Amino acid sequence: MPDIIQLLPDHVANQIAAGEVVQRPASVVKELLENAIDASSTSIALLLKDAGKTLISVTDNGTGMSPADALLSFERHATSKIKIAEDLFKLNTKGFRGEALASIAAIAHVSLKTKQQDQQIGTKINVQGSKVVAQEPAVVPKGTTIAVKNLFFNIPARRNFLKSNPVETRHIIDEFHRVALAHPSISFTMTHNDDLVFNLPPSNVRQRIVNIFGSKTNEKLVPVEETTAILKIDGFVLKPDFAKKSRGQQFFFVNDRFIKSPYLNHAVNAAFEGLIKPSLHPGYFLFLEVDPQSIDINIHPTKTEIKFDDEHALYAMVRATIKHSLGQFSIAPVLDFNRESSLDTPYDYSNKKPISPTIDVDRDFNPFSTSAKQKNINFPYKRDKDTAHWDSLYVGLNDTKTTEGSYSPETHLTFESDQVTGSLFEEQSPVGGGLTFQLQNKYIISPIKSGMMVIHQHLAHQRILYEELLKNITVHQAVSQQLLFPLELTFSIPDIQALQKIQEQLEHTGFVFGAFGEDTLSIKGIPAALLEGQASMVLEQLIKDIMDEVPDAGFSQNDLLVRSMAKSMAIKTGVSLNSEEREHLVNQLFMCKEPSISPSNQAVIITLDANDLDKKFI
Ligand code: ADP
Ligand code: MG
Repeated sequence: MPDIIQLLPDHVANQIAAGEVVQRPASVVKELLENAIDASSTSIALLLKDAGKTLISVTDNGTGMSPADALLSFERHATSKIKIAEDLFKLNTKGFRGEALASIAAIAHVSLKTKQQDQQIGTKINVQGSKVVAQEPAVVPKGTTIAVKNLFFNIPARRNFLKSNPVETRHIIDEFHRVALAHPSISFTMTHNDDLVFNLPPSNVRQRIVNIFGSKTNEKLVPVEETTAILKIDGFVLKPDFAKKSRGQQFFFVNDRFIKSPYLNHAVNAAFEGLIKPSLHPGYFLFLEVDPQSIDINIHPTKTEIKFDDEHALYAMVRATIKHSLGQFSIAPVLDFNRESSLDTPYDYSNKKPISPTIDVDRDFNPFSTSAKQKNINFPYKRDKDTAHWDSLYVGLNDTKTTEGSYSPETHLTFESDQVTGSLFEEQSPVGGGLTFQLQNKYIISPIKSGMMVIHQHLAHQRILYEELLKNITVHQAVSQQLLFPLELTFSIPDIQALQKIQEQLEHTGFVFGAFGEDTLSIKGIPAALLEGQASMVLEQLIKDIMDEVPDAGFSQNDLLVRSMAKSMAIKTGVSLNSEEREHLVNQLFMCKEPSISPSNQAVIITLDANDLDKKFI
């Protein structure tokens, strides 16, 4: 057998190593911003084109590099930050591996311009796929600009693997937030495709948070502060009312470095216990300072995870400090969340009068009066109230309908197991109610000839809203309710930009927008099916869904938008429905094109066959 082991050529080895450091444009952004901070810059500008796929450029006013250092900076393991192994244990810089620039240069076209503070002339270097293609003296400003073009130009597989621009932009913004929050005294700007997305002047932490997340954030912040022998902790938590379904605003910094720590996150959650629903996540911006010797940041290549010497003590301190702060700001009333786990009402409502999960009929509840709003139930189909008939069950399912409201006995419904006929509905006089029951404020039960049908109320309403909104958005004929007073909502700057991008589609669903501010939005009209109080929540969820997954255009984008809106607008489980509401919901459901599955492909209806029940009684 011949020998088969070979040494990989340098450029292949470099590309492989680069994969560890650079997963996506956001990784480059993080490394370049951190290098600029390590160079003692006070002003840093990030410039992007096409979510960083075409260009990522970072300009700083830091120390700059000598011509020799500039060349060396692209070599692997070339760093000015540690000299001996012991230095690893007293790190106060972001970088130390000397790998970032080498990795980036292996997979992109990089140009570096740099000049040291005390020099007249600087240096310009171009590197392509690890090869230095030009180096020359240049008249450049003090500090450093590194421009990274055509990321993954030589690894098409990696380039194709990148997500859509909005998704990659979201990742970049996340990294930008982390770096900018950790260094409020440094000024940062971020420009994307010529739009100035962030302009953050030097400030304190509180001001920085507000500049990033919008002016309304200020009143949501509760300061947290404690100093002990092993730990200094300060920063802010968001008041419990502002806890969110998503984990968006959760930031831990240890010695000014953003870290992920499920363990410490748990400590914060523990401090909020009893104040927020278990399904919600508290927001926090916490800055921990510990002795660098007591942590090991070297355990993860991208350095967002660290190991603490004394985790248990930190956990206890974080939890106690936050509890204390929440108590001091007297926002820790005793609330009881020992309730039906299926309840999914918004936090605001969970300390109101509880709704017991029975199958009682709530006769006082009229979905079309204003009291419906207090329950946060939305039944928009008033116009169909009088025409609600069970005959809609058959629309689109079977053509054997004979005369209006009566059906031939042979009629079979395809979604039921078997032998369901129209006569069932005639016999049981459906319109007066009593034909459906509600189980655990979640399921609508209806007897059918073959047994019974169980409808999931939340998923059913999602399907109804989905089809209605989708129709509106495609044929552009939404019904809009004009608001007496325009709604003024505050979002972060990128969120406003995300909304602006889909403004037209949103208008087709019934939204009427006034002015878009930098971080504010005025809404003059909302879709007919939406309650005013839901507007902000629906848009917030929509932004999140869009950031998480954006198909590029056309039908799938409308589908995503409508799916998200239908989900947040649909009546929740845990809401008691009276007979009229139940009947209405069922009618609407069977007028849908696809009543049996939800927009996200879950079953909406199941049937239980009497034959199966019979077997249970043997
Ligand atoms: P590391 O940051 O781990 O040292 P990098 O590959 O990121 O490794 O950078 C290599 C070296 O290049 C740094 O140690 C630093 O000396 C120099 N360098 C990189 N970026 C800058 C910058 N913006 N300003 C000054 N020096 C820089
Ligand atoms: Mg670095």
